[in-house]
Amino acid sequence: MLNSEILNNVLENKIISRQDIMEIYQNAVEDSSELFSVAQNLRKRFKKDSVTFSKKAFFNIVNLCKDTCSYCTYKAEPDEKKLSLMSKQQILELLQLAKKYRCVEALFVTGERPEQKYQEARDWLKENGFKSTAEYLIHASELSLELGLFPHTNAGNLNLEEMRELKKTNVSMGIMLENVSERLTEKGMPHYLAASKRPKARLEVLENSGKLGIPMTTGLLVGIGETAEEIIDSILAIKQLHQKYGNIQEVILQNFQPKPDTIMKNTPSADEKYFKTIVALSRIIMPEMNIQIPPNLSPKSYQSFLSVGINDWGGISPLTPDFVNPEFSWPEIDKVDENSRNAGFELKCRFPIYPEFFSFVSKELRDKMSVIENGEGLVKEEYWR
Ligand code: SF4
Repeated sequence: MLNSEILNNVLENKIISRQDIMEIYQNAVEDSSELFSVAQNLRKRFKKDSVTFSKKAFFNIVNLCKDTCSYCTYKAEPDEKKLSLMSKQQILELLQLAKKYRCVEALFVTGERPEQKYQEARDWLKENGFKSTAEYLIHASELSLELGLFPHTNAGNLNLEEMRELKKTNVSMGIMLENVSERLTEKGMPHYLAASKRPKARLEVLENSGKLGIPMTTGLLVGIGETAEEIIDSILAIKQLHQKYGNIQEVILQNFQPKPDTIMKNTPSADEKYFKTIVALSRIIMPEMNIQIPPNLSPKSYQSFLSVGINDWGGISPLTPDFVNPEFSWPEIDKVDENSRNAGFELKCRFPIYPEFFSFVSKELRDKMSVIENGEGLVKEEYWR
């Protein structure tokens, strides 16, 4: 029996209110032990003793972006060394290499509609024979599938038609909600210069993914100056979408880390205790959700998040850097395996789509997956190890 009546209610599957969640949060500021233990209890109840990851290659297709988020170091300007404009040949070569490394996922990432702002992006599209970044992504996804790698595209605010096309080849797609706070889009705030990060725009993309039945990964960036109410409302917004469409397959909780070349370079990293509290709250609000933290962003302590409610490490690449967080290299898969085991969990490799969502994708995609799929709907050990 716990001291907190609300947390007892959570364990008994009773519905709790926003006010209750706020109270859990406030109590956790003083003492988080009961919250953490309830989150862990739910995690074990619904996700058992395993933790998953996706073996991926990160395709930095184009990092020009029409927006500017104050924390982003991914975005490049045309004269910068980090500029990436992948040619069809480069994409093919990286796909072939990824296959050699026995990656399962081809993660395709772009900036937000670069062709709207940059002539360089328009020229690049033309040289490769495409009219838009989305069209290029459709081509890259087809190529990826042909080689037996499963595409997962995260290209910002795609429209309904673009997503409908990509659904044919992508087993899942992704877009970070980041936060639903309008306040964070005001002058001086992280999303002021990023129209695509307006909560209404992001929620619309997620709504469209629901209408199209696309297994969707979304998530929050934690520690960018949000209030507790704002982050709780963001978790609740994701929950609401999932209740409506049933297609949110996972929630990534990403802890903010300042980047030297950004406006937020002097903002401190997300506090670890606060971050853990948000992770545990997410588990309590969505007990059956797949909840992920990227291990590279908590290099010394990621395994300790296994005791506050997470059940997934996200994509880990044995061959490409994390272009969104270039200063944080991926841990080696063997090391993650060892650390997970030491914490009492078995590491398993999943597809970019979780088994619970297989009914959302076509028979053609399922047939391709079956070549390397085991009886649990995960990737055969002999393939990924
Ligand atoms: S986070 Fe995305 S939308 Fe924001 S500046 Fe970076 S690439 Fe552009």
